[in-house]
Amino acid sequence: MDRIIIIGGGIISGSILYHLYKKGYNGKVVVIERKSQLSQESTSLSAGAFRNIWSTIVNLKLTNYSIEFYKNFHRELGTNIGFEQIGYLFTYYEKDFEDIKNFKHVWDENNVRTELLKPEEIEKFVPGYIPTIDHIEPEVNEILNMKPIAGALFGPDCGVFNPTTASNRYFEYTKEKYPSKVEIKLNSEVKKIIFKGEETIGVELVDGSIIEGDIVILAAGAFSGDILKNSVDYPDYQIPVVPWKRMLFTVKMPDIKDFEKIPMTIIDNGVYFHPEKGNLLVGRADPQQPFGYDYTPDPKYYEEQMNYYMAARIPGMEYCRIISPQSMWGGLYDHNTEDKNGIIGFHSHLKNLFIATGFSGHGVMESPGVGLSVAEKILTGEYKTIKEVEILKYERFKNNQLIKESIVI
Ligand SMILES: Cc1cc2nc3c(=O)[nH]c(=O)nc-3n(C[C@H](O)[C@H](O)[C@H](O)COP(=O)(O)OP(=O)(O)OC[C@H]3O[C@@H](n4cnc5c(N)ncnc54)[C@H](O)[C@@H]3O)c2cc1C
Repeated sequence: MDRIIIIGGGIISGSILYHLYKKGYNGKVVVIERKSQLSQESTSLSAGAFRNIWSTIVNLKLTNYSIEFYKNFHRELGTNIGFEQIGYLFTYYEKDFEDIKNFKHVWDENNVRTELLKPEEIEKFVPGYIPTIDHIEPEVNEILNMKPIAGALFGPDCGVFNPTTASNRYFEYTKEKYPSKVEIKLNSEVKKIIFKGEETIGVELVDGSIIEGDIVILAAGAFSGDILKNSVDYPDYQIPVVPWKRMLFTVKMPDIKDFEKIPMTIIDNGVYFHPEKGNLLVGRADPQQPFGYDYTPDPKYYEEQMNYYMAARIPGMEYCRIISPQSMWGGLYDHNTEDKNGIIGFHSHLKNLFIATGFSGHGVMESPGVGLSVAEKILTGEYKTIKEVEILKYERFKNNQLIKESIVI
């Protein structure tokens, strides 16, 4: 194997590049990125949060591995990535909390540290938090439909980091170490993957040039589904990955003592926030959002679907205004419509095409485990460290073996 092509220059690509050489690959890699800089798509538009609390064993193993990797990133790759284990705190109404309690043994058995909290204990982590609803005007709650909180789940090993720095460092480090082997082509958009029969032989760029390779890795995030569509006609050969807008808002910290020390907190209506350099980064996935390449942030959405809930649960958060028009944005999930999980593995029909996409809102936190797994599979034919990754194979859609992840934000 002389040359591997990676389509996309985001964190998944960077980690694959880094791990290929770490695991002993000796050939060349060409990374093809359509933008003028690396890591500028979903990687840098993400919330940069990580957690090992999942409902599927494969995600839990991938993130357990990845958290350890990120913890040692500085030592291994020589750059500080702002890794902070501030914890994750999920709050629940009664029925969901029962499910969480019943599931806790799975985390205990898999080295995922979690703590169940009583409603009145939440305030220790999130000052000003009120678990009841008696303080909310009944006419307001008729619209919000908030319920009393039955309990919370705290994950002390979860936290936040800077994915742009981590992603750029993977590329920079590998390029510095293997200057004659790594080629990074910026401003180069792949038009399609090219095949000889059903064997992958390279890619064609929009400018008409052809780059040949022994293996092509499709790691173009939210664009991956469309790149494959442009490359092959057969509906049966496609991947269920679509772009799906998710918005983030940087808002003022409320005037509540010690609020800057809260963990990543998930409250009613799926609203989540974490401290970010003196401000709060707030998000909520809109289930009504149509699929497509839309990046427009909508401040009204913040006010109506997010801030009302924040203010009702934590009085004082009504003052969390959006800082400026530049401090809100939309980015794209590489959303897997079938089971909201990454697709990792060789395509079952198109020989030498490797898929690494569809991470549906958890790609930056899984990048170390994904990069390692892709490198192992390509170089040795098997997943040696995280064997469970095998079930994320492309064939699962054909064999009706979906791996449904239920703890998706
Ligand atoms: C608002 C938001 C919040 C998120 N929060 C989190 C979070 O807290 N934690 C988490 O783990 N994940 C989060 N995610 C998801 C995460 O950002 C993605 O899963 C992850 O970035 C995927 O990485 P990637 O490298 O596959 O994709 P990307 O970072 O999008 O990289 C793909 C690259 O491919 C390039 N490309 C596309 N088409 C072509 C082409 N034709 N030719 C050449 N290059 C091309 C793009 O320009 C891009 O640079 C969030 C996403 C969003 C949008």
